[in-house]
Amino acid sequence: MDPRYTARRVTVDREAQTLTIVWQDGHRSVFPLDGLRRACPCAACRGHEGTDELPDPALFRVPALMRWEHLRLEPVGHYALRFIWDDGHDTGIYTWRRLRAMCPCDACTQT
Ligand SMILES: [Zn+2]
Ligand SMILES: [Zn+2]
Repeated sequence: MDPRYTARRVTVDREAQTLTIVWQDGHRSVFPLDGLRRACPCAACRGHEGTDELPDPALFRVPALMRWEHLRLEPVGHYALRFIWDDGHDTGIYTWRRLRAMCPCDACTQT
């Protein structure tokens, strides 16, 4: 398995409203929860854009409109993570590859 797409640890900080993934290669991705909710890759949320397209990284920089207090995460096989949000939305399956590609840190968003 590719260490870049393998999560070593996933933690949700409800206070800070962030989800942190520490990857097998040591990289750390910190996502604002509200940004992740808006970046939901499911067909209902993405519409006709197609699910392969990555969301605009600016999505993670806009101020949060919602607080997510009861986010639940379920692994989907070895390849993805399902997010179950407070609003009942549960069709968003975020692959590890996609999560890594969406990493909003400075190093990853530099062009
Ligand atoms: Zn969705
Ligand atoms: Zn990064």
